[in-house]
Order: sequence, then C-alpha cells, then structure tokens
Amino acid sequence: MSLVVDNIGELVTNVAGSGEGGPLGIRRRVAVLVEEGEVAWIGPAADAPAADRRIDAAGAAVLPGFVDSHAHLVFAGDRAAEFAARMAGEPYTGGGIRTTVGATRAASDGELRATVRRLHAEALRQGTTTIEIKSGYGLTVTDEARSLRIAAEVSAETTFLGAHVVPAEYAARPDDYVSLVCGPMLAAAAPHARWIDVFCERGAFDADHARAILACGQALGLGVRVHANQLGPGPGVRLGVELGAASVDHCTHLTDADVDALASTRFDCMCADGGHTSTVATLLPGAEFSTRSPYPDARRLLDARVTVALATDCNPGSSYTSSMPFCIALAVREMGMTPAEAVWAATAGGARALRRDDIGVLRPGARADLIILDAPSHLHLAYRPGVPLVRQVLHNGVPR
Ligand SMILES: [Zn+2]
Repeated sequence: MSLVVDNIGELVTNVAGSGEGGPLGIRRRVAVLVEEGEVAWIGPAADAPAADRRIDAAGAAVLPGFVDSHAHLVFAGDRAAEFAARMAGEPYTGGGIRTTVGATRAASDGELRATVRRLHAEALRQGTTTIEIKSGYGLTVTDEARSLRIAAEVSAETTFLGAHVVPAEYAARPDDYVSLVCGPMLAAAAPHARWIDVFCERGAFDADHARAILACGQALGLGVRVHANQLGPGPGVRLGVELGAASVDHCTHLTDADVDALASTRFDCMCADGGHTSTVATLLPGAEFSTRSPYPDARRLLDARVTVALATDCNPGSSYTSSMPFCIALAVREMGMTPAEAVWAATAGGARALRRDDIGVLRPGARADLIILDAPSHLHLAYRPGVPLVRQVLHNGVPR
C-alpha cells in the first residue's frame, strides 16, 4: 500500500543543505511518497507519483514526527496535590518519587499497561511518533522488570532506571541497593531495555555509585543516559561524557567545564550523515515549568556547538505533560532558542539523543513518521502556544 502526501506548503526535512533554513532543510510545494512504512520519494508536487491513497496537505507545513527522548510513563497514582502545594510555595526536592513508587508497586499489570497506553496514545495524537520510556518507579527486581516489559509493548526505546532513587527500605544501606541494581535487578531488566539511566543528583546517586551502575549496564550492552545537573551543579554531565553517554538530561545547572566537556564529545558512529556523534544535552523545560525553577540556558549550549534535544520528561511528579509543542514554546520563550532550533531539537535532536538516524528526518529510506500541521509554517508551533496544531499524524506510514 502506497500513500502520497501532496500539496505540502513547507516540508521540514532536517536534511541540512537540502533546502532553506540551514539544518531544517525546508522545501516548498513538494509531495512525499510513502511505501512500506518508509519515505520512498520527495519531490515537486507537480511530479508526485500515483499512489493507492492521497492525503492533501492543503498547503500546510509537514514535519518529521516529534522524538520524545525522555519520558517516565510506567507509574500509578496522581500527584496533583503535590503540584498545587509547590505552586503555593513549597520547594521541589525529588522526594515525591517515593510516593509514586508505593502506588506503582501496588498496581496490577493491567493498571500499569492502561496508563502506558493512554499516555502513549496521548503523545501520538500530539505528533510524537517515537517516545523513550523509562522504568524507575518499581525499584524491586520484579517491579522494574515488569515496568520495562510493559513499556516494550509500545516502544523500542526502553530505559532501565532502577537507580532513580534509593527506595525507603534501603535508605540506611545505599551500597546494598547499588549491589541489587547492578546484580539481579539489571539481569532481570536488561532483556527488556535498550538503555540504562541513573539519577545522578544530591539525594539520589553520587558519582561513584552512578559510574558503577552505568558500567554494569554497559557491560550488558545497554547504552548510557544520565539524569544530570537538574537541581544543582554536580558530576552528572561530566560522568556522562566520560562514559560516552548518548545523552545527559536536564542540564539546568552547568559550569563552564560541563559545557566544554559536552562541546568536545565526538564519537565514531554509523550515522548516515557524517560518521560521528556526540553526547547530546537533552533539555526538559516541562520540569522547570512544573517545579517553578529557573530554565536551562539553551543559548549557552548552542553557542558552544553542543547538540541540544528537547523532551517532555513526562512523569506524574515534576512534569506531567506529553506535549512536545508545549516544550518547543517554552524553549523559545524561556531558554533563548529560535523557533527553528527548537523544532530541530524536538525532532532531529531527539533522534540523536537516541542514536537513531532513521527518525527525526524526512529523506528516502527514513521511517515515514510525519505530522501535518494546521498551520503554514513550523514557526507556528512556538508562535501559537497551547493550540492543538497537529492535524494528522503518520506513524510508520499509517495515518492515525
Ligand atoms: Zn526524568
């Protein structure tokens, strides 16, 4: 079954140099042919080949689907009251994670599965065609393994976050918890995970514990991601760079040494577009919004030529949004990004943070994950905040 999206006014390809707009590679008045879930052809609308089905974009903008490279969807319970208390002046400490751990352990598989599927569908409706999903609210061998098993039912990008916090029953003996994470918990989780992540922060895991846990995951073939420098300065970013992490996430409190370390990363990879990759700085402005905290300085990172991604951090405590357009708008208004930089970071940037070159980009051979906006330009995603501008989503070439 073939499908052509015709009459596209503005196509964001993210193929640098293939059109206007620098890295966005914008082409105008084009059509996209989709076959077997992949982009098969892009060219002038007047030359569009025949196809089994035609979608008329009516002159609107078409973009790659959003790549949300940081989300925590496997949980139970609700922390709206904690949000309200924060908005009334209480500070965010990360301690509420244990509230969700209790609710998640008590939930049935069916309840967890229903939440994951509801949020996955909610994200897809808003244009997110790839979403990374972390465990981290089970914190026992069986609860972490089942969290990842359920996450893997809807996404190939699953991340073991057994080192989210030290659970209450190990509070007096964190070394024992690290041994559990590195041993039986990782062994049970790894078959269902592509990545390993650690919350490296004061009150969670220090550099030595985080390094030990991430090294154990690497030894089993998992890629590295780090929750780093969210609540204050710390060793997380430099630890991620040291271990060749695909991404260090949050990056709210950075020293010059952290920025220099990120800017210097360059690893060999099999990327289609140039043969190297780097440690991406993934910024999560929904967390700063929802904890009323200072935003990360994206401008500083971009000016240092660090690769920046945007993601939602969707979770019930500190950022309960699944909306990538909301994050784009925040990044533009509050973090010094241009609309073009924010759109790139929410698509191609997320793909780099997941070390993927088949998504976040529209070129022949890429996955046919694309969104049709109710707007003539990608600029409207930041220009019209809060407006549901995603008219139609194609996921693996299938209209949703
Ligand atoms: Zn997170």
